[in-house]
Amino acid sequence: MSFGIKGKFIVGFDGEEHRLLEDGVVVVEGRRIKHVGKTYSGEVERWIDASKGLVMPGLINTHIHASSSPKDKSFLEDVGARHFYMSSLGENLTALGMSMRNEDKETFARYSLAECLLSGNTTLVEIGMVGSLGAEGAVKVIDEVGIRALEGPGIRDGTWERTQGANIQTKWFEPEVGLKGLEEAEEFAKRYDGALDGRIIAAFYPDKVDTCSEGLQRSVKEKADELGLPVSIHAGQWVVEFQNMLRMYRKTPVEFLHHTGLLCPRLIIGHGWAISGHPLVAYPPVGGGDLQLLAESGATVSHDPVVFVKRGNKLHSHSRYLAAGVNVSIGTDSAPQDMLNEMRMASYVSKLADWDCHSGTSREVFYSATLGGAKGIGRSDLGRLAPGALADIAIVDMSGINAVPVRDPIRNLVNSCQRSDVKTVIVNGKIVVEDGRLLTADQGKIAEEVQRAAEGIYERIPENHYLNLKADEVSPQSLKPWRG
Ligand SMILES: [Zn+2]
Repeated sequence: MSFGIKGKFIVGFDGEEHRLLEDGVVVVEGRRIKHVGKTYSGEVERWIDASKGLVMPGLINTHIHASSSPKDKSFLEDVGARHFYMSSLGENLTALGMSMRNEDKETFARYSLAECLLSGNTTLVEIGMVGSLGAEGAVKVIDEVGIRALEGPGIRDGTWERTQGANIQTKWFEPEVGLKGLEEAEEFAKRYDGALDGRIIAAFYPDKVDTCSEGLQRSVKEKADELGLPVSIHAGQWVVEFQNMLRMYRKTPVEFLHHTGLLCPRLIIGHGWAISGHPLVAYPPVGGGDLQLLAESGATVSHDPVVFVKRGNKLHSHSRYLAAGVNVSIGTDSAPQDMLNEMRMASYVSKLADWDCHSGTSREVFYSATLGGAKGIGRSDLGRLAPGALADIAIVDMSGINAVPVRDPIRNLVNSCQRSDVKTVIVNGKIVVEDGRLLTADQGKIAEEVQRAAEGIYERIPENHYLNLKADEVSPQSLKPWRG
């Protein structure tokens, strides 16, 4: 199958950087891009008209929990635990997670993947689906919905344990537990890496910096080097973790990753905001501190602003990370899985962090959501429109109420376009969204199923909350019910 796209604005990659090509064409043959240019004289089977659109590389989302995150929506906004520095980790999220049934997880996964595609997001670093649906189940959902995803089972040899009150500590298992997880991850990689015509990319997912021991982190690094796989771990994601790492190792989370060797170009850190020098951790950097370690290591920080902003937290400044030399990518983490929303928030949060309109520019954020993500997952054939790159493409309408007036389409994409402006999405050369509708799943049915699953979860909260609180006690409604 070959087709061409005639676009008003095309983000073409010239081998070094993204460039804006006006009134040009992109030609796709099979699953790869054949040509990007002003004109094309060859034959194609079909032309797609994007004469009012922005044709851009499909966005790369470097941190998402597809099978669990919809439960957070309509529940965790405006809510957090003060004794955990406003985080919902270790408390509300635990109760919500325990209230999910197994069958909810597949419903949620399908919904999250659909949400991603509808926001122009074609590649995911998805964490959790293999654990909750099994390897075959996860691959089946990815196959059906038609997205590209990094997958793998979780690896850990520790877990969080509430010892008393608000004291969360790491409870360590025998080292064999972690090594068994690593073996399973290796098996997954050998079986599925490259499956679905390359839409499955195997990855190693050591769980968290404080639930993977030093020995396990070293083993993961060794095996990832051997197999050439990307790795992602949670680190610098809340104040409690930062403090616990200091207590356990007298090292910050980033210093510990550096110590074990896991801090390397294959590593994507979700979320990497709680680092030395951040105002909320009150731990001044020595020399260049954690930011310098991150930059020198070549590791990637997955900046996932929305979920943290809702807790009153933020990565301190996107631009300052970039200026220090850190590769920053963008992820959604939780619902809504909307990369446009994340990009906008990344831009605004950076401006607020620096009190500076020049911070968090549309260019910086767009680069993070495309080339930054591609670098993080070690792929030079994604996140760009260039001959030979995989045909993962999103077309955003630039003629509607949200978009006009247009002078600089990247600024409009970051500042004013909505998910509903994403009209066409192509993954691996196959059209999966057309006229703003998913072709691979029934959106109406997905929405109904998600609502039903979530209502069951709200009912089960009291039996799973450590203080047996009801849903409305954990997360009070914004409005009181009507009287009389
Ligand atoms: Zn996460």
